[in-house]
Amino acid sequence: MSRTVYVNGEFLPEENAKISVFDRGFLFADAVYEVCPVLGGGIADADAHLARLARSLKELQFPDHYSASEYLPLLKTLVRNNKLEEGLIYIQVTRGTQDRDFNFPQNTDPSVVMFTQAKNVVDNPQVKTGISVVTVPDIRWQRCDIKTVGLLPACLAKAEATRQGANDAWMHDNDGNITEGSSNNAYIITGEGKLVTRHLSNAILHGITRVSVLKLVEQANLVLEERPFSIAEAENAAEAFSSSASSFVMPVTTINGNRISDGKPGSNTLKLRELCINAAIQSAATTQATTPGRVAKAHSA
Ligand code: PMP
Repeated sequence: MSRTVYVNGEFLPEENAKISVFDRGFLFADAVYEVCPVLGGGIADADAHLARLARSLKELQFPDHYSASEYLPLLKTLVRNNKLEEGLIYIQVTRGTQDRDFNFPQNTDPSVVMFTQAKNVVDNPQVKTGISVVTVPDIRWQRCDIKTVGLLPACLAKAEATRQGANDAWMHDNDGNITEGSSNNAYIITGEGKLVTRHLSNAILHGITRVSVLKLVEQANLVLEERPFSIAEAENAAEAFSSSASSFVMPVTTINGNRISDGKPGSNTLKLRELCINAAIQSAATTQATTPGRVAKAHSA
């Protein structure tokens, strides 16, 4: 069935949803994006995602554009038109269309595209086994805090993981410390119950799910340490996981072929996943676009 896609003010069947070849998103990756989870027909953490979108646009000197309050009704209409109960909304804003020129255009409206993807984000079979990751050098630019569509380094990292038979890649800086995953934030839990994740800086994306996870640390009886951690520390951790809007908390059970503890998803990780999903369900219920949802509460596996 054809999806309804939002393009520059119109809700269109996906086959009619088109962008110019002169769009700067296409020519220069001059564009930013967001991915929001949809649970029970509501949008989780909508405010936080829209605030990060506004920040990305500001950091890249985009002209003033839709405000968060203008986005929310559009997102809800998109969810409703697509009868989306569970999955993701993708939002992309480009600097607009102009004859190819490195200079930023004057008086050009940004292009806005939004679409939905149906996906079982809660009932993800990979959670049962956990995923394997390999580490690769982080070859991205120095503003990884801005969520741009310049995702080729992330695609290369993921392709390298696939080549090595792993599910994902964690990237490391020149000092051998993990920055983040190819499309997620990275965490380890030590044997002493410390949750370690890299501190915020321009080296990582400030994940919205990361904010949720850090709020739950105390409830999960863990102690937070925001600092760099090395590849070796990760390989020898008691537990490991990644977080993102599309996977919430995903257990990592193998790093560079080394099993993490007994090679099964860790109990603290699964607890954090349960708490994180329940918080997302509560948040989504406040931005309900369809009839009250059918998403069951999350339970530890
Ligand atoms: N880091 C990177 C590089 C990402 O691409 C993503 C997800 N897009 C994340 C972290 C996680 O961010 P969020 O929790 O907001 O999805």
